[in-house]
Amino acid sequence: AKKEKEAAKIEGAVQIAIGIKKEVDFAGWYTNVLLKADMLDYYSVSGCYILKPWSYNIWEIIQDWFNKEIRELGVQNAYFPMFVSSKVLEREKDHIEGFSPEVAWVTRAGNSDLEEPIAIRPTSETAMYPYYAKWIKSHRDLPLKLNQWNSVVRWEFKNPQPFLRTREFLWQEGHTAHLTKPEADTEVRQILELYRQVYEDLLAVPVIPGVKSEKEKFAGGLYTTTVEGFVPTSGRGIQAATSHCLGQNFSRPEMFNIVVEDPNDPTGQGKTYVWQNSWGLSTRAIGVMVMIHGDNQGLVLPPRVASIQVVIVPCGITAKTSDEQRKTINDKCEEVAQTLKKVGVKAKADLRDVYTPGFKFNDWEQKGVPLRLEIGPADIAKQQTLTVRRDTGVKAPIPLADITTSVPQLLETIHNDMFKKAQDIYFSRLKQVTKWEDIVPTLDNKCVAVIPWCEEEACEDDIKERSGRSAEPQDERAPSAGAKSLCIPFDQSRWTPIVPGQTKCPGCGKDAKRWTLFGRSY
Ligand code: AMP
Ligand code: ZN
Repeated sequence: AKKEKEAAKIEGAVQIAIGIKKEVDFAGWYTNVLLKADMLDYYSVSGCYILKPWSYNIWEIIQDWFNKEIRELGVQNAYFPMFVSSKVLEREKDHIEGFSPEVAWVTRAGNSDLEEPIAIRPTSETAMYPYYAKWIKSHRDLPLKLNQWNSVVRWEFKNPQPFLRTREFLWQEGHTAHLTKPEADTEVRQILELYRQVYEDLLAVPVIPGVKSEKEKFAGGLYTTTVEGFVPTSGRGIQAATSHCLGQNFSRPEMFNIVVEDPNDPTGQGKTYVWQNSWGLSTRAIGVMVMIHGDNQGLVLPPRVASIQVVIVPCGITAKTSDEQRKTINDKCEEVAQTLKKVGVKAKADLRDVYTPGFKFNDWEQKGVPLRLEIGPADIAKQQTLTVRRDTGVKAPIPLADITTSVPQLLETIHNDMFKKAQDIYFSRLKQVTKWEDIVPTLDNKCVAVIPWCEEEACEDDIKERSGRSAEPQDERAPSAGAKSLCIPFDQSRWTPIVPGQTKCPGCGKDAKRWTLFGRSY
């Protein structure tokens, strides 16, 4: 009885678990969800966080899936050191200009200062490409396709946010070299498609594939493609993953001089500088997933990345329940878990006897487990179990006889419904805007302004400045109130066709080229 009283006390505390409402204080809600779901802990160095097993496992699932796909494309994994000499790092001017404010340096070892400070990679182009120059001697050495799973350090001064913007983050970075531009172009899009699938098919997070503006492209690259996500609660866009074509910018003679004889040159004398790509997806993906699906009960995990997809909770056990009855119920729960495991469902029976069912419900809801099965004496008598969906809260009994088909189906339905719901919201927040006066009100309504844009950098600077002007003065570390271009979607068919020479850019009045997403962003 004392045990049960204690359990009830804990249960009472758990009732207000998340405490902060998503719609009221989004940032507070977000960190609460991460802590209560046991995904993350704070760390003694600011801007750095501990990824606990509940979140790290999601990363491992993404890794397994992505590794399988890139192997199909002929990409191999390798590992390069995290240190970069300053000479190499600073070789590409645009590149280092883009990254230098965020580069961390090692200046001392033990008691002595280093003769030359050594940089910690913010990304590995310059660390890897001297060796690409050494290894690529002939067009027969092409394509060279390497990927590494590692961490990089960007000493960001903007407000850190767990997963979204951290000073050290985990990612994969792929670096490939090709003989021709068309080959490089093709791969850029193949990788971007894999990123779309990571977000949409694993995390149930909708993204919009497109190309970045000149201002927003990767420092030192030729062009950047992106999958752009959106966080409805804040109304901000988020760069979900990027696949860059670097062109011949890093391979040219003044840079890393990665050159082969041109097999297509009729004189046999010609040389070609290789075409390079780099592409990256980071643990940011986990944060976006939490922000989009989570609710006031806590985390909501999409089934395909959940380390526990189904939790089975014994119910209807009271003080009067005999030990034998209790054992029957527990055994049934364990049996159901084993049956589901055999068909590939990640199931767990929660037989902890110090906790009440109510406590367990809350516990697994906070941790986002997609589906709960309840089994009590009445269910056993009827050979059924009560299913409770985490995403909708919908409860429905199902016969125990066919759980090996109905439960996997239900998990599929949950994935599809979660994706559809998020996509409907994203699309409903894309507002076609053709007049300047409508841009700021659109942003203030937590929407993205899709404008027919001239694609000029000066216009983008101006839009950002003018759209941020009316806002309250902000801490300089806070995310900007001004709108920047998020992406130029590949699929333009969603919006009225732009008439060349007629449709004007609402930013500057010049001729519009393509519909472009402008929004506040992370
Ligand atoms: P980049 O090399 O800058 O194109 O970065 C590749 C991807 O990493 C971006 O598309 C972001 O999704 C992600 N990313 C960039 N900076 C951070 C950061 N500070 N923390 C977490 N993820 C990041
Ligand atoms: Zn313009």
